[in-house]
Amino acid sequence: MNAKNTHKRILLSKNQSGQLEYCEACDVVEIEIGPVSVRLHAQDLQLFSVLIQEAEMHLGYYKSEKSQAEINVLKMEGIH
Ligand SMILES: [Zn+2]
Repeated sequence: MNAKNTHKRILLSKNQSGQLEYCEACDVVEIEIGPVSVRLHAQDLQLFSVLIQEAEMHLGYYKSEKSQAEINVLKMEGIH
């Protein structure tokens, strides 16, 4: 058994933003985003996934609140 086979990487997911590979020997997930790569324990992948999902959700809230605030400003300006 050589080291290359032991550390065979399994592609878990890939899209335009980057890719995720899993090394079973290390039980590590490697996230590659452009030139940056981040290694996570496989058990932390779910937490990381929640982190991203919450960020996306909160960004959506922030943007919709911001546009709502702008609409309110326009309404107030309309009063005068
Ligand atoms: Zn490995």
